[in-house]
Order: sequence, then C-alpha cells, then structure tokens
Amino acid sequence: MKKHNYSAGPCILPQEVFEKSAQAILNFNDSGLSLLEMSHRSKDFVAVMDEARSLVLELLGLEGKGYQALFLAGGASLEFLMVPYNLMKENGKAAYLDTGTWAAAAIKEAQLFGETSIIGSSKEQNYNHIPKGYSIPEDADYFHCTSNNTIFGTQMKEFPETSIPLVCDMSSDIFSRVLDFSKFDLIYAGAQKNMGPAGTTLIVVKEEILGKTGRTIPSMLDYTKHIKAESMYNTPPVFPVYASLLTLQWLKNLGGIAAIEKINNAKAALLYAEIDRNPLFKGAAAVEDRSNMNATFLLNDEAHAATFDALWKAAGISGLPGHRSVGGYRASMYNALPLESVQVLVDVMKELETKV
Ligand SMILES: *Cc1c(COP(=O)(O)O)cnc(C)c1O
Repeated sequence: MKKHNYSAGPCILPQEVFEKSAQAILNFNDSGLSLLEMSHRSKDFVAVMDEARSLVLELLGLEGKGYQALFLAGGASLEFLMVPYNLMKENGKAAYLDTGTWAAAAIKEAQLFGETSIIGSSKEQNYNHIPKGYSIPEDADYFHCTSNNTIFGTQMKEFPETSIPLVCDMSSDIFSRVLDFSKFDLIYAGAQKNMGPAGTTLIVVKEEILGKTGRTIPSMLDYTKHIKAESMYNTPPVFPVYASLLTLQWLKNLGGIAAIEKINNAKAALLYAEIDRNPLFKGAAAVEDRSNMNATFLLNDEAHAATFDALWKAAGISGLPGHRSVGGYRASMYNALPLESVQVLVDVMKELETKV
C-alpha cells in the first residue's frame, strides 16, 4: 500500500512523476535507449534541459527579466560556498539572517570568504521563530536568508526591501507559494525537498549581479561558466533533471504556483487547526511564523508517544518523527502530498484522544 509520506526530504513526488521517470529509464521517448545510457549532448536530453530551465522561469514569473536557471550538482550545501565565491568581493562583506541549522551552515561557509555579519538570529530560542526588525547594512555585497526552515518548521512570510542583492535558500518551499520572485537576485534550492529527486540543485540568478567580485573562481564553481554552457559545463545529473522537469510539468498542468498554493494553504490550515484544538498536542514554532511546508509539533505528555506512534504507523503514515533538534513530530506537507493524507493524520490525532 502507498504510504502517506511525510518525509522531510527526499520527499514525496507526484505518482505520475514516478511512473514516467520509471518508463524513461526503460525506454526514453521511444528511442530504444534508457535515459541513463544516452549522451547528455543528444538532441533528446538537450531538449529536457532546455525545457526544464525555461519552465522554471515561466512558473516563477521571471521570463524575460534577466534571470537564468541552472541545474547543478552538489546540493544546496554547495551553494553555501558558491554564493560567497560568486558574490562576495575581495575584502568585501555579506549579511546573513540566522534562522536555523541550514542558515547557520550557510553562514559558516561564507565566513571562509570574508566578513560575514549575522544581522538577526533566533538561535537562543532554538530557532522557534523568524527574527524581525533587523536592518540590512547597505554596504554589504549581498543579504542571505532562508525562506523556510525545514527542521524547525518556520517560514518567512515577508522579505525585506533592500538595495543590495537578495539571496535566498528556498530549498524546502520553492514552487509552494506565490511570491514576487523578481525581488530576489539569487535563489537556490536542492531538488529533493519540493521539486524532484536528490542529485540536482536549482539556481535562479539575475545575470547582472555576477562577475563583480574581482576574484578568480574555479570553473565548476563559477555561475557565469555554467550559464555560458547552458547548464552543461560538465555532464549534468541527467535523471534528477528529467524527474524535476516532470514535476514542473505536473505543476504547470495543475495551474502553476497559484493553484498549488491554495492546496498547500488548505493542508496547513487543516493540520494546524488540529494541533491547536487537540489538548494532547502543541505546536513547536511561533504561530505567526509557522511553515506551511513543515509543521513541527509535540505531545504535551511524552507518555502518550508509544500509543500515538502505533496509531499513525497503523494508518499507513511514514516519515513523521521530528528532527532530533526539535523532537516530537514533523509533518512535511510538500506540493505532492495530497490533502487526504493530512486528513488521515488529523483523524489519528483525534483518535488518540479516545485512547488515552
Ligand atoms: C535540506 C536543506 C539544505 C541542504 O540540502 P542538500 O541538498 O542536502 O545540500 C539546505 N537548505 C535547506 C533549507 C534545506 O532544507
């Protein structure tokens, strides 16, 4: 039986993406070849890369606005260092918002390159909210933030106005809600949270911010080189790119980001209403900063854990335990998770009330 998959990442993808990508491994486009055994320079694969790159810009509303989309390897974690490599000037500086484990990991890498100031942090409160009221130093080379904190279950609802390049790690909420994406100068996202399988990272960058650092950048880490090579500077991760394209096509057919946002809002509203209503549970994150992608919650009495765990497992739910830094539970409700799966979880939470 197919599970109700709440995994935080790699995560659930649409069933049709699994089916079509399985078919492509056997026989891609009726070519008599597997997607896995054909040249990335073949006409068939070049078409995949081109469509994936343009569909990203189309879905984000960034076509014709000076942006480029790249599908690279190395995960979002490699972007933690590619960003300062490409944007921080020699003897320059950068400003970061410290909102969780991933933000802190990005800060650690930037510190290797130059003066990195943390202009807001919720670390002392175990990252249970998004810092507010910070000010961005306008002489920094860029400002970096994390739109959704996958581990702690917080999400930025607003983004600051700034004259310096705005860089955002959107790994766990890209394509999940309508934003004015043209406010951002560089967005990156590991595919495996909301776009595709592990193995590729999406980078969307406004070309005019590149080439200004004065530093020599190793080729594989240079966004400009990847753009020039149309995201094929070396052999790209062909399968993750293809499966990501299928997910993007699925999203477009559904009506794009505006359509999925409605569904995501309904899923989050359903679950948070139960977390707030049910006297056995409490939410882990500040209410105003709650993530619509990853809902973190705890039992008020840990003694009920064994009963609750047995109930959700019996209901076919998978991937619910929270990250060790928060404990409790984390329900990751990425784009492909159906509303019905959230109803199953809510029903189990209600059932627990009758068992304890
Ligand atoms: C998972 C995650 C990362 C790390 O992604 P990798 O692709 O494993 O390097 C970075 N940032 C956020 C917000 C994440 O959720």
